[in-house]
Amino acid sequence: MKFLNDLVNLFFPRLCQSCGDALAPADEEICLHCLYQLPYTHFHLTKDNAMEQSLWGRAPVEGAAAFLHFNKGSRVQHMVHRFKYKGRHQIGTFLGRVYGYELLKQPPYNTVDMIIPVPLFRKKQLKRGYNQSEVFSGGLSIALGVPVETNVLFRMKESESQTKKTQAERWENVKEIFAVIHPERIEGKHILLVDDVLTTGATIEACAATLLKECNVRISVVTIAYAG
Ligand SMILES: [Zn+2]
Repeated sequence: MKFLNDLVNLFFPRLCQSCGDALAPADEEICLHCLYQLPYTHFHLTKDNAMEQSLWGRAPVEGAAAFLHFNKGSRVQHMVHRFKYKGRHQIGTFLGRVYGYELLKQPPYNTVDMIIPVPLFRKKQLKRGYNQSEVFSGGLSIALGVPVETNVLFRMKESESQTKKTQAERWENVKEIFAVIHPERIEGKHILLVDDVLTTGATIEACAATLLKECNVRISVVTIAYAG
């Protein structure tokens, strides 16, 4: 079997999702060299980190952290792009697992009861085949040992592009987008709200506001990357 694997690898090498080089047999998704060099934020170790500060006065959260820094044209951007749009969902599960084991050692993340991924509009999810935040949540769930809940928070409509809007307009744009069904499922729980990339924070703000309006919950936030 090993021989067969080696042979397959010779003709169809598995490639690092960050740099594109061939992976060593023991590597998963990202080569050791890239894993060593990724731009980690270490936000989960830093109280009042930049991401938490960006949510101050907008979303009352226990903690907020991103695994990686997101810069235009960077390897992280390409990797997230392949993950979101090119069907490479294994990247998301892998990153979730790796980050999940880091979060497992760190309050407030080690006390979450369940994970709620930011939902996609149903039509968009059917078209893409998966919700990238849910896939990343799946990896986190393996490490943290808590379930992913996808039957409580729903996206009622598509949000328009946020890029040319002011902060107030962005908020107008997203505040009515989400809805809670079955609030009893999360009553009294500590929720880990998960998104792919935190840019303006308007989506997280809207999700948190919707959850807090309907239920008595505490919320922490985790994303793959922070584009602040
Ligand atoms: Zn690499």
